[in-house]
Amino acid sequence: MIKKPSKNTELLSDKPHSKGAVAPPIYQSSLFIFDRYEDLQKFYAGESKQPIYSRVTNPTVELFEEKMALLENGEAAAAFASGMGAISNVVLGLVQQGDRIVAVNNIYPDTYRLLKQICHKFGVKADFVDGDNLKKIEEKIKGAKLIYLESPSTWVMEEQNLREIAKLASKHNVISVIDNSWASPIYQNPIDHGIDIVVHSASKYLSGHSDVVAGVAIGSKEIITKIKNETAILLGAKLSANEASLLLRGLRTLKLRLKQHEENGLYIANKLVEHKLVKKVNHPAIQKNNISSLQGYGSLMSFEVADRVNIPSFCDALTLFRLGVSWGGYESLIIPAIVGIKKGGKDNSAVDFGISDNVIRIFVGLEDKKDLWSDLENAFQKAKG
Ligand SMILES: *Cc1c(COP(=O)(O)O)cnc(C)c1O
Repeated sequence: MIKKPSKNTELLSDKPHSKGAVAPPIYQSSLFIFDRYEDLQKFYAGESKQPIYSRVTNPTVELFEEKMALLENGEAAAAFASGMGAISNVVLGLVQQGDRIVAVNNIYPDTYRLLKQICHKFGVKADFVDGDNLKKIEEKIKGAKLIYLESPSTWVMEEQNLREIAKLASKHNVISVIDNSWASPIYQNPIDHGIDIVVHSASKYLSGHSDVVAGVAIGSKEIITKIKNETAILLGAKLSANEASLLLRGLRTLKLRLKQHEENGLYIANKLVEHKLVKKVNHPAIQKNNISSLQGYGSLMSFEVADRVNIPSFCDALTLFRLGVSWGGYESLIIPAIVGIKKGGKDNSAVDFGISDNVIRIFVGLEDKKDLWSDLENAFQKAKG
């Protein structure tokens, strides 16, 4: 009997492309023409799948969607122009005036503002809850429309018990959504644990080279079709064929890259734990809990430095770690919480969730792990008061 190929192998084995092209063609076309009146009629009757217009669907984008559905063990996927495009289309596509959303604390700052501001503006209330308190979660989701998770979460890297929360959501007829960008589909498949919809910022690990901004949502055929047809077409945050092509390229090395990110990240996290100027390391392997559904680790983490560390000097002393937002590409990055906290403003998640001034977030890239550690060690040396 022939064994079914693994997901990683299947990712590469597309149906033959036009003219034998081994890389998927980029369908750089806004519209697609029909041979005959009858074909057009069939399309409008919903009897044909031919692409018509790239705001609705595009063959290069569709191939990326198929692969993402495969990777996340979902039935279907919808791609978007950004992670926020995916998140806003999912949320706005599934709620209506008078509904209530429950979200865990420490979600991505712009998701927080989407819930606090845009949803609020349209009469949808958002409640926030400690992600590791199942009792509180059950109390709050009664009568809610949607529960929004991010595991591990932003800044503090806290995990949620996906299986138990999915059970509660299903018991109370609440749609469950999770941001799975941190783990990527290589290290966590929330649909296997009963979660309804997975969203990703494809700008991070999926693209993997810091040259794309994109997003994707994966779930049942029914729910994804509803989001596509009723919301995505109208909000218009569509993914371009060019960026879909870069994402398809990124997916081919996703597993390999994640393996190296995991190794480098664990090495740095363990070194940080031992450093006398570090008070705490927020990385799921260090925090250790018995509810984890991670099958491996991403390399985005944060740590809290001792008060005598001068954070601006620390940042400026680094040569390999670059000061910058986002993450998921080749290069290691650093961003201190204090910069965002100082910004103040309404609905500032770092302030509202009580992130400490001493927290620094790092993304461990694909450089040599020993070089990266000596860069950090040197910066501690220069920044200690
Ligand atoms: C970056 C990010 C987002 C937003 O994605 P964009 O592609 O920047 O819109 C959402 N969630 C998490 C966890 C992220 O890191």
